[in-house]
Amino acid sequence: MAEIIHSADLIVVGGGMAGLIAGVRAAELGLSVGVLEQGTSDRYLCNTRYSGGIFHLAYNDVKIPEADLMEAMRVITAGAIDPALAQVLARNGRLLVDWLTKQGARFIHGGPAWQNWMLAPPRPLTAGLEWIGRGPDVMLRKLGEHLRAAGSNLFLGTRATALRMQDGRCVGVDAVRDGVEIAFAAGAVVIADGGFQGDLALVGKHIGGVPDRLKQRGAQTGLGAGLRMAEAVGASVTRLDRFYGHMLSRDAMHNDRVWPYPEVDAIAAAGLLVGPDGRRFADEGRGGIYLANEVARLADPLGTSIVFDAKIWEGPGRSARIPANPQLARAGATIHQGPDLASAAKAAGLPVDAVAATVAEYNKALRDNTLHTLTPARTSEKYPAMPVETAPFYVIPACAGITYTMGGLRIDTDARVLGQDGQPIPGLYAAGSTTGGIEGGDVAGYVGGLTKAGVFALCAAEHVARTRGGAA
Ligand SMILES: Cc1cc2nc3c(=O)[nH]c(=O)nc-3n(C[C@H](O)[C@H](O)[C@H](O)COP(=O)(O)OP(=O)(O)OC[C@H]3O[C@@H](n4cnc5c(N)ncnc54)[C@H](O)[C@@H]3O)c2cc1C
Repeated sequence: MAEIIHSADLIVVGGGMAGLIAGVRAAELGLSVGVLEQGTSDRYLCNTRYSGGIFHLAYNDVKIPEADLMEAMRVITAGAIDPALAQVLARNGRLLVDWLTKQGARFIHGGPAWQNWMLAPPRPLTAGLEWIGRGPDVMLRKLGEHLRAAGSNLFLGTRATALRMQDGRCVGVDAVRDGVEIAFAAGAVVIADGGFQGDLALVGKHIGGVPDRLKQRGAQTGLGAGLRMAEAVGASVTRLDRFYGHMLSRDAMHNDRVWPYPEVDAIAAAGLLVGPDGRRFADEGRGGIYLANEVARLADPLGTSIVFDAKIWEGPGRSARIPANPQLARAGATIHQGPDLASAAKAAGLPVDAVAATVAEYNKALRDNTLHTLTPARTSEKYPAMPVETAPFYVIPACAGITYTMGGLRIDTDARVLGQDGQPIPGLYAAGSTTGGIEGGDVAGYVGGLTKAGVFALCAAEHVARTRGGAA
């Protein structure tokens, strides 16, 4: 057995938004806390640091009425969200942003109402990765300082490897630091390691067969440790097959200027997404997160292309916060263009006749209002289908970007990890992208990673404090 080098009321695995919020809140409530973070530098990478910093719930302001938020989350996940967990989010999203404000967060309005709670300073509205000194980076550093100021610890370079159990209760964590096995004793443990998207074996097993042909659209620090550690002590998991991500230019595989932004979701959702055979294979009307999930399951996730026209490029192409038009061209991405569809398809190396037939069939179905009869059917309610008929015509080679996994550890409304019998595993909690039951499902519904992380981190800390006699 590794030597116990530290004991605390609460040990947290992971120093992202979920882990640091859980740690700071628990310390605020009088508990001693140790946060274990595998990253070694002061600005260790994690998805939180890369994020846009927008706290929303299903693309709504977290302060609209609770019932409206619950309905929006139900609709966006097509019922996949556990209603009890949805209620916790709807009730506490507002408390989370208020609590963060008290911790020194500065929020600005990013534009539309769902961006009313965006951490400042915001990232510039340009292509590529920009995070140093931006809102989420500033917030993480503030939370780290608060943790230390409260007398608790952030252990950098410390990778959790296993949970310690005694009489069915989680009582600590085994870890590795500088190649040495060490251990932490704890009254309770919160797993907040950020998901399993960075572990290609797990991604291949649960999501798609060729994971190295997906673009890692995040920090690649979520390596599934939390999932493995908790499953080893009997935790139950939800559907693990869905992820939050976006459609990107295929150049993202080798050009760092075209990821994580701009996404090409809006173009794909207005036009057509075809495979190397020039045929559609998924319902574009369900949007880019869904499409990225469908692409990930293909035999060749790097074989898809978006086919569209001038009206889509000038309309939806300019609609995103960091729009594909003109950011993609500025970042040097491949955009095939032609005065007619055939020349654009030929330039992209697609079979010209098949693309022409696919687009003709699609345009006719759109005119005749029979999109539902296409194979696969094309919905148009969420993202309206637009005709592809106005020159110039375009083809963008695409790929799927995976940001974080949506499935994970099953938790209850206090963020307690549930065992195979549906009962909480005493002393074990989880928050953030390592949890499941909130997002995903058949439509790959996205509820909002930061709010999810923060709300359940607060719930975990408060439950630990209540059960250990803290001030909650
Ligand atoms: C480009 C981009 C933009 C985004 N924009 C938004 C947005 O605007 N709004 C939104 O809601 N969401 C957004 N997200 C998603 C959001 O960032 C995540 O949902 C959220 O940050 C998850 O927080 P977390 O604490 O669960 O994970 P993370 O922030 O990834 O933190 C997990 C931490 O655990 C550590 N760790 C992992 N394994 C171990 C181990 N074994 N031992 C010790 N430490 C370990 C990791 O190193 C990491 O620091 C975005 C993500 C990206 C990549």
